[in-house]
Amino acid sequence: MFDLIIRGDQVVTPQGTGAWDICITGETIAAIAAPGTFDDNQAGQVIDVTGKIVIPGGIDPHIHSKWHIPAMEEGGEVSWTDGPDVVSKAAIHGGTTTLLDFANWQQSGTIEEVINVRKQDWTDNCYTDYGYHIMLQGAVPPEILPQIGEAIQDGYPSIKIFTTDITPSRRGRKITHGHIWEIFKVLKKEGGIGAIHAEDDEIVMHMYDVLQREGRTGFENLAEVHNTMSEDLSFRRIIRLAEHVDGTPLYMMHVSAATGVAAIEAARAKGFPIYGETLHQYLMFTHEHYKRPNGQIYHTYPSLKETSDQDALWEGQLNGSISSIATDEICCTLSTKVQGSKIDDTTGGNAGCEPRVSVMYTEMVKKRGYTLAKFTDLVSTNAAKIMGMYPKKGALAPGSDADITVLDPAEKRVVTAARLHETDYTPWEGYEAEVWPTLTVLRGKVMMRNGEFLGDRKDGKLLKRKVDEAIRNRPVI
Ligand SMILES: [Zn+2]
Repeated sequence: MFDLIIRGDQVVTPQGTGAWDICITGETIAAIAAPGTFDDNQAGQVIDVTGKIVIPGGIDPHIHSKWHIPAMEEGGEVSWTDGPDVVSKAAIHGGTTTLLDFANWQQSGTIEEVINVRKQDWTDNCYTDYGYHIMLQGAVPPEILPQIGEAIQDGYPSIKIFTTDITPSRRGRKITHGHIWEIFKVLKKEGGIGAIHAEDDEIVMHMYDVLQREGRTGFENLAEVHNTMSEDLSFRRIIRLAEHVDGTPLYMMHVSAATGVAAIEAARAKGFPIYGETLHQYLMFTHEHYKRPNGQIYHTYPSLKETSDQDALWEGQLNGSISSIATDEICCTLSTKVQGSKIDDTTGGNAGCEPRVSVMYTEMVKKRGYTLAKFTDLVSTNAAKIMGMYPKKGALAPGSDADITVLDPAEKRVVTAARLHETDYTPWEGYEAEVWPTLTVLRGKVMMRNGEFLGDRKDGKLLKRKVDEAIRNRPVI
């Protein structure tokens, strides 16, 4: 007797895509059975989703909730983006069941303390399962290093590192390569993976100077600041550093340029364990979008680039340089998103958690002919593998958590902010999605069905993670 059987004919499993019945007991998948193996009376509930696409719940490995937005002027008001309740509810509506946020260490307290602060934000306040990357900002004193090792052992193996301050007005994020060297030694020894925001700080800050001198400080020029050469130099330097620490594994966050893809590809060809993440706005928008009304809505850091960079980001998905598609979610109102309009005060991040899976299905499967398996890898499975959640997450397989998303091709939808559950704008306004989720299941519980939300704020659980040795030793996906 099962609690729930979901019967589908396009079910994406690790063994292939086809007609399967997903049999669920409690929070886990008990069996993936041939159709009709079990009668309707052998389950508490049966949901027939034939004609629809059934994938493991989406995983967004890079989101920020309740994230600090700096004041526009000295002494001005600091604001916060929407919290886990809002972001995770939107995620469930969009077919995403796992989110990875950040616990932010910034020059005070212990790593354990910042994890505990983050727990106060998330515990009993979210609808998806979730984990935290540990984000380090600024100089990392020696006494913090063993704490990083302890955090890795405790289930927080991914450590976010900035190689740049990003803007002159937001100093204090950059970590020097000396300090990164010490952190990498800990990652290598303790089972961690570096999650890197890599830009060449000297080139970026030089370009701020140049554009300020020339009076070209509008945000539409951001691609000249956060440029492709900066990505080239910084990716290659950080990879070289990691190679010197016996191949410390790296996850390159929000790859935005062809140069970044090429650097990852070259390292992988040598067997170096490195994985690339891009964002769906880099895949779909270029710096030309900055010239549109409210063009800031398309922006995050590093900047949007050229169509040739987009081509490389798509190509990189086929050769393995790009493994996952994230959002860099920053859920804020349009007025907050567009409050800055200069190269050094424009708000980054993106409200995209809800449309991500449907938009990527449309771009990948319908427009580019990806298999359902490849699409599933990019929006779910690969992130689970790299971030140490597989096969609990990212797989429709016996023993896995029953996290299930059903995409309905009969639910073609023009994306509009009014029908989303995030905020009052979306960069995908008017986009024609070829599917939309009609069922989202989290650990056996139906969270959303046909647009009706059935979740409870206490449903989401914290995930402790451990990155597999194979992932850490060579580029296996
Ligand atoms: Zn981010």
